[in-house]
Amino acid sequence: MVTEVKNGKQILYRCDVCGMFYREREWAEKCQAWCETHEGTCNVEYIQHAVDPSDQNQSQGGALIRSAV
Ligand SMILES: [Zn+2]
Repeated sequence: MVTEVKNGKQILYRCDVCGMFYREREWAEKCQAWCETHEGTCNVEYIQHAVDPSDQNQSQGGALIRSAV
């Protein structure tokens, strides 16, 4: 199971294996399924959907997140 993380108004989903955050549960689940079966590797296709939860507090990096609100 991925972890739901409240980040301000936003809910993010975290892959418990690699700790990446995603806005869509679907990507977090895919990432986690990958990480559980491919230990020590990362799937670039999933990682490009990952978000940095700390970006929300910054004017530049938060743009992507805010546009979805
Ligand atoms: Zn992962």
